[in-house]
Amino acid sequence: MSISANLTNIKERIERACRRVGRDPVEVHIVAVTKTVSVEQIEEAIAAGITIVGENRVQEAWEKYQSVSSKVEWHMIGHLQTNKVARALQFADVIESVDSLHLAQEIDRRAKLLNKPAEVFVQVNTSGEASKFGLEPGEVVGFLHSISGLEFVKVTGLMTIGAFLPDPEDVRPCFSMLRELSDSINRTREYKTEIRHLSMGMTNDFEVAVEEGATHVRIGRALFGERVY
Ligand SMILES: *Cc1c(COP(=O)(O)O)cnc(C)c1O
Repeated sequence: MSISANLTNIKERIERACRRVGRDPVEVHIVAVTKTVSVEQIEEAIAAGITIVGENRVQEAWEKYQSVSSKVEWHMIGHLQTNKVARALQFADVIESVDSLHLAQEIDRRAKLLNKPAEVFVQVNTSGEASKFGLEPGEVVGFLHSISGLEFVKVTGLMTIGAFLPDPEDVRPCFSMLRELSDSINRTREYKTEIRHLSMGMTNDFEVAVEEGATHVRIGRALFGERVY
């Protein structure tokens, strides 16, 4: 299957998931996850209609960013070390994987030097799996308080990686938890930015995530095929 045919299929599945719950498919953005994917394949995906690219590692992303000639949005979706923040801010439009105060402070400091606010999502560990990065759901409100003074960090969304389970229905509670968390944050109206984006759902579980309110689904394999490391 070509990338273009895969994208058509993914869009149809998103549309059907939206229809099941009365959502408008224009609310759902596909982040093409390009770890291990070549620049040629990225260009092919962009030609097919992809407008957002997600990368896990700063160095790999930076190299591709310099080679991809088309204008797209770049999202960092992998764990970010503080010593990579300056580089990430050179090309990333959104850092989806903010998971500590220390990291948020470094993003603020570096963004201030560039005089350009950084848009970020807060990564939440909704599965309880110890191997996953992200704040515990119960820590998120306190975290937003702690960073409310960071002028150059703009939180606009939450991100999660669902539980690693074969049946997507079993992952649903992770996604509903993220949506409920954002609803409750927005209801309190205490924070300078509203949570407008929910980045959740990958190849195995994106339809369930869309049903639960995802605005960004991060898709690698369903678009590019199995990864070859
Ligand atoms: C690899 C990855 C994805 C995409 O996973 P697929 O199963 O290939 O769709 C999404 N999000 C994150 C954080 C990833 O590391």
